[in-house]
Amino acid sequence: MAEVVLKDVVKNYGSLYAVNNVSFHVNDGEFVALVGPSGCGKTTTLNLIAGLIPMSGGDIVIGERVVTDLDPKDRDIAMVFQNYALYPQKTVFNNLAFPLQMRKRPRDEIERKVKEAARILDITHLLERRPRELSGGQQQRVALGRALVRDPAVFLMDEPLSNLDAKLRVQMRSEIKRFHHNLNATVVYVTHDQLEAVTMADKMAVMHGGVLQQYDSPANVFADPVNTFVASFVGSPAMSLINVEVASHGTDALLRGPDGWELPLDARNARKALAASTNKVVLGARHSTLKLHKSAVPGAAPGKVYTVEPTGDITFAQVFVGDDVVNISLDPSVHIEPDDKVWIEFDQGRLHLFDAKTTNALK
Ligand code: ATP
Repeated sequence: MAEVVLKDVVKNYGSLYAVNNVSFHVNDGEFVALVGPSGCGKTTTLNLIAGLIPMSGGDIVIGERVVTDLDPKDRDIAMVFQNYALYPQKTVFNNLAFPLQMRKRPRDEIERKVKEAARILDITHLLERRPRELSGGQQQRVALGRALVRDPAVFLMDEPLSNLDAKLRVQMRSEIKRFHHNLNATVVYVTHDQLEAVTMADKMAVMHGGVLQQYDSPANVFADPVNTFVASFVGSPAMSLINVEVASHGTDALLRGPDGWELPLDARNARKALAASTNKVVLGARHSTLKLHKSAVPGAAPGKVYTVEPTGDITFAQVFVGDDVVNISLDPSVHIEPDDKVWIEFDQGRLHLFDAKTTNALK
């Protein structure tokens, strides 16, 4: 197994920078998720690591070697794609055996490796079937098995679960995690689903517009998003972001929001708010840190209920504070209805402040 290092990697198509100066370091045995909205450059980044497309700039190291100018077959990687790319005419056994046959491995070695992969992935009973006789989840396991038999230094996976239904996706998510744990493999995994990234990965690389926004553990990205993009992308429901103004008086500061709302800040938040490049800041809060009141409370933001979504043991509501939407979670016993007037109380210890101009978190 091996580490993967990207150094100032660039891929442009004319003036469109699909990947713009991206650098990160995947340690040996780590599971890293490349995550971001459609078009952010995650598949292009994966394809550059695989060597499927030429780079416009930068370098990529896999293991001890700079692979920038190597063909995909010489990079010691195996790819798992979202469409599985199985051979329809071949049995599962032969689909698994094919990469080894191509490398002219001896027959007994092929048999041993295929059986071992089938055992690990629990598909031994399917070895004589053809892909059309398999469910989506079983086909996905065969695709993983085909990568596994090659015993690569690095597994590269591009949205491998996106063709499965919601329930199977959750099940295969655990299986891929287990697969990683058992093999201690280095995995780079592309997904647009932040929940998949948060639940599976040791580290996540959050991308936007070809630029790497943040590279850290899911827990750190969740707790300390570097900017409003990451704050609103990671976490479900999304972090609420409210546009406010800072009013200062010496080292004291308060936030002024819509409808005469004022929130005096504690010393730590005041220092952050006063470090912004303008007097406009964005206040961020996760749903679970907010409290809803049905009458006015000092410092609480007045709002109007937009939607109420019961999910069983927790109810989610969206509340408009001025033009901004606040996501809040409630005990199902709390009864509110659309258009109710409510007040939202913030937890000073757990609120986030961002510079409205740069969108960066205020430190
Ligand atoms: P998705 O989740 O939709 O697959 P992505 O994050 O994987 O998106 P990429 O496929 O990496 O995004 O594409 C990044 C950007 O590069 C997009 O704007 C895309 O249109 C552009 N792009 C990708 N391939 C090419 C190409 N061959 N020629 C021109 N532009 C391209």
